[in-house]
Amino acid sequence: MPAPATLTVDLNALAANFHTLEAAGGVAVHPVVKADSYGLGAAACAARLMAEGARTFFVARTSEGERLRAALGAAPAIYVLDGCLTGRAARLRSADLRPVLNTGAQQSEWQAAGGGPCGLQIDTGMNRLGFRPEDAPEPFAGLDLVLSHLACADDPAEPMNARQRDAFAAAAGHYPGTVRSFANSGGVFLGPDYAFDALRPGVCLYGGGPEGRPDDRIRPVATLAAEVLQVREVPAGESVGYSRGFIASRPARIATCATGYADGVLRSYSPRGLVFVAGEMRPIVGRVSMDVCAVDVSGLEVTVGDRVELFGANRMLDDAANAAGTIAYELLTSVTARVPRVYAG
Ligand SMILES: *Cc1c(COP(=O)(O)O)cnc(C)c1O
Repeated sequence: MPAPATLTVDLNALAANFHTLEAAGGVAVHPVVKADSYGLGAAACAARLMAEGARTFFVARTSEGERLRAALGAAPAIYVLDGCLTGRAARLRSADLRPVLNTGAQQSEWQAAGGGPCGLQIDTGMNRLGFRPEDAPEPFAGLDLVLSHLACADDPAEPMNARQRDAFAAAAGHYPGTVRSFANSGGVFLGPDYAFDALRPGVCLYGGGPEGRPDDRIRPVATLAAEVLQVREVPAGESVGYSRGFIASRPARIATCATGYADGVLRSYSPRGLVFVAGEMRPIVGRVSMDVCAVDVSGLEVTVGDRVELFGANRMLDDAANAAGTIAYELLTSVTARVPRVYAG
């Protein structure tokens, strides 16, 4: 018996997306597995990606790197995007993690502790993390990777993309022999001159489209599904849920489903959220509550124990995110620990 709400992860689809990205960019894929692989489970996802040929991973936090090292063993290179925070060098070194240095202070911190393999982030216009090109350090021992991050990769028409690419090419030229990594998911599809030496995708591995909408090249990976706990006939004029968020204008059949905002089904799913149930798309009605939400299944044969799909192969992740007023990244990382991750493939 599956749990009332589950997040099923199709590892074969993850592997397929990995190879699609590899083929599209023509260079190595270094998967981004931060935030527990965008909520899907970094240990399982990274292990499968390693089996598919990945040898280098990116996480955001030192703690994520430590957990990933414990899960994967000594073989892969793991870069930490936060860099080397104050007092953090010993932890990075003992887990054999490579900080992506963002500032002169981080570089000093790392080198004072003995240094070792590390990366460097160049800020080519996002003004988030990394050295401005004019402040970038001279090449130094241990530096083996240089990266920069696109601000608008999900919009191929944005002229900033080419400006960042050219700034990165110029800045990376000061570090011959290092691996140059530039393209995130969106960047992979901007063209061959965005690939450099290694791709750094996240969301496309996990089933999000490169431009924030479903994309034929990317397979769905994660399915959030919930069980129907009760089906009721609501007379015309009565309301459903908190604050009378839905009022039946005619008699309605309502399925109460075992997932709510404590599972990561954002309250902003209503009023535009849809779920796939009994072969159709049906609206979430009324307010999403902590543990349940209501779906209008009028005219459908739906019974207790049936499952509704909030996103997956039938309700695309990007469409679900857009309906909730957000992006695939936030929808995936919102799925809480209460929802068991189930691995298939
Ligand atoms: C999160 C992140 C990525 C992955 O981005 P996607 O858009 O999910 O492919 C790549 N590089 C950096 C620096 C990031 O922070």
